[in-house]
Amino acid sequence: MIRYAVLGSGSCGNSYVFYDGTESVLVDCGFSLKELKRRLEYAQVPFESVKALFLTHLHPDHGCGAGVFARKTGLPVVMSRTAHETERTVCAKLNIPAASLLTVDPGTEVRIGPFVLNGFSTTHDSAGSMGWRIDASGRRFLIVTDTGTYDDTMVRLAGNADVLFLESNYDEQMLRTGPYPYPLKKRIAGTWGHLSNEQALEFLRLAGVIGPLAADGGEVPSLFSEPSTQDPSARQVYFIHLSAENNDPSIVASGARRYVWYGAFTVCERGKAYVGELA
Ligand SMILES: [Zn+2]
Ligand SMILES: [Zn+2]
Repeated sequence: MIRYAVLGSGSCGNSYVFYDGTESVLVDCGFSLKELKRRLEYAQVPFESVKALFLTHLHPDHGCGAGVFARKTGLPVVMSRTAHETERTVCAKLNIPAASLLTVDPGTEVRIGPFVLNGFSTTHDSAGSMGWRIDASGRRFLIVTDTGTYDDTMVRLAGNADVLFLESNYDEQMLRTGPYPYPLKKRIAGTWGHLSNEQALEFLRLAGVIGPLAADGGEVPSLFSEPSTQDPSARQVYFIHLSAENNDPSIVASGARRYVWYGAFTVCERGKAYVGELA
């Protein structure tokens, strides 16, 4: 059994947990230690089971709790080497003890108890940003967040994940017509920004996670010859990191419902926790 949870997603704090009944790992810690504990309790994951924290990048909504977490627990914090070498001001502020810090390059496998994690590069305006693939008990999880674009690697990884956490940050029209100043709009929609609802769905189609538009009834062109090793019917997609200003959960859900689904999806409202379990 693996229990997993989106402990929170969006600008007010991001964190994910994976728990095999004995040990657990966290990805991102955009919460205070107190709030993290409260959310773990909600997910029924004992805080004492946590063995390590992995970071996607160093923006505060993902990493602001990492320093206190490391100093209070002495547990390892894993982040990209580039992030550590480049984001010096943030790292100095976080003040993660050297003994807790583990820096890795994308593609490096990190084993923590029953969990095997592998980072892959994303494109975001925080140096060395990465997504994470998490394998445990024969199950595969993938976190694709805070990335302005996606590439073949991410598409291939998503095609083989049992559970996919996918950024669906903004509705393109809402961002265009919304209140943000132009430079910020440009940043969000750019290569080093965030994935839109439309990009997220395009990504899912390329990965073979969803089929064509429900009304089309057409064939989905397959980009990859290798068949998915997972049962597609078991696949779960969590749309995460929705913008409060430029998106709405109902827009994400209705956009997704336009397609043929082989699995199931959940739209994660900003700040809320979602818990799932896989046998
Ligand atoms: Zn970010
Ligand atoms: Zn973020």
